[in-house]
Amino acid sequence: MNLQKNISLKPYNTFGMDMPAEALLEVHSEDMLAQIAADKTLPENKTVLGGGSNVLLTQPVNGLLLLNRLKGITIEKEDDEYVWLKVSSGEVWHELVLYAIQHGYAGIENLALIPGTTGAAPMQNIGAYGVEVKDTIDSVTAWHWDEEKFITYQNADCNFGYRDSVFKNELKGKVFITSVVFKLRKKAAINTSYGAIEQELQNANIAQPTITDVANAVIAIRQSKLPDPKVTGNAGSFFKNPTIPLNQYAPLKEKYADMPSYPMGDDMVKVPAGWLIESLGWKGKQQGNAAVHSRQALVLVNYTGNAKGEEVYRLSEDILKSVKETYGIDLEREVQIW
Ligand code: FAD
Ligand code: NAP
Repeated sequence: MNLQKNISLKPYNTFGMDMPAEALLEVHSEDMLAQIAADKTLPENKTVLGGGSNVLLTQPVNGLLLLNRLKGITIEKEDDEYVWLKVSSGEVWHELVLYAIQHGYAGIENLALIPGTTGAAPMQNIGAYGVEVKDTIDSVTAWHWDEEKFITYQNADCNFGYRDSVFKNELKGKVFITSVVFKLRKKAAINTSYGAIEQELQNANIAQPTITDVANAVIAIRQSKLPDPKVTGNAGSFFKNPTIPLNQYAPLKEKYADMPSYPMGDDMVKVPAGWLIESLGWKGKQQGNAAVHSRQALVLVNYTGNAKGEEVYRLSEDILKSVKETYGIDLEREVQIW
């Protein structure tokens, strides 16, 4: 095992934060996990890092940081309608999407170009453009550090919610997700419910889109709106879209007529956090080395490349306060604060 000590994590997180890890180890095989658990010379506290695209490093990472490098895609089973793909958790998510499209397997095409690893996808139930990954997940297998064994969680055990799962709550810090089984369709059920996709397809004169067309539309929209982490450090949307009761929304809508909302069941609505933040003048605002992205108010960026985690955190704190003061709505951070 090639243990590296006191190593900078700058290349390993998309915010580009220069924070050290006390000890870093790349995990290339599932067998290594039992060895790591048994090795009492290694730090007891263990944390998993995939692509580092959903973390903000505000302090050094103590203990052992395990960098997920588990690779492999196999067909577990198939029938006329579905294929069950078993995917090792270190596979790059977008490459899996491309693999699925090439093979005609449908269900994750709307999730094209989301950075990070496959193993982190169930963690926050990644979602975009009307699709959440939970709808294609059959099961998730993970090494449990306390139980010292692999456990398979069926979809229903994962408590998936909006950008949420059991892995972010009860199992936080307790497991290393090693593989995910996806149940993908052989016959596509195209989802273009998000206006932006519809518009993009119309612009390209595509009336009957394939899964490739949908993925290409999503890729084009994302490239036009989102900062590329290789150029400007960021971790995507910093905040979740708040879901509030209709009776809280109604008086707000009366006062702020253009406040958008999307129904969530009978008596709740989702309000785009980006709209709330932009309406308060935060879009494009710079604070020290950190800033709110100029094209997407939900995304905080390492503007100069030299931002410290605390600077981005402080900016997020100021935004939270400002939204609470004006609208009475509590925003929640989506990015994991380390
Ligand atoms: P990391 O950042 O490495 O880890 C995130 C968390 O998961 C950490 O707490 C980590 O400990 C834990 N974790 C990671 N791997 C494992 C594992 N194998 N076992 C146990 N725990 C693990 N997200 C969306 O949902 N939708 C989007 O559209 C979207 N767009 C984005 C766009 C940009 C430009 C960026 C930078 C980010 C975006 N994100 C989006 C956020 C991010 O890409 C996803 O959350 C992604 O799934 C994170 O993967 P990762 O491997 O980088 O996770
Ligand atoms: P957008 O299309 O400008 O829409 C703003 C918000 O309104 C979105 O966040 C979305 O919520 C909601 N929305 C829009 N159309 C909707 C519909 N038809 N039904 C229900 N809700 C709707 O959003 P955007 O910021 O450009 O992002 C596009 C998609 O990519 C979104 O799904 C977003 O979540 C995802 N994305 C996520 C991240 C991340 O880091 N998590 C980063 C970039 C983009 P939802 O977010 O709930 O879909």
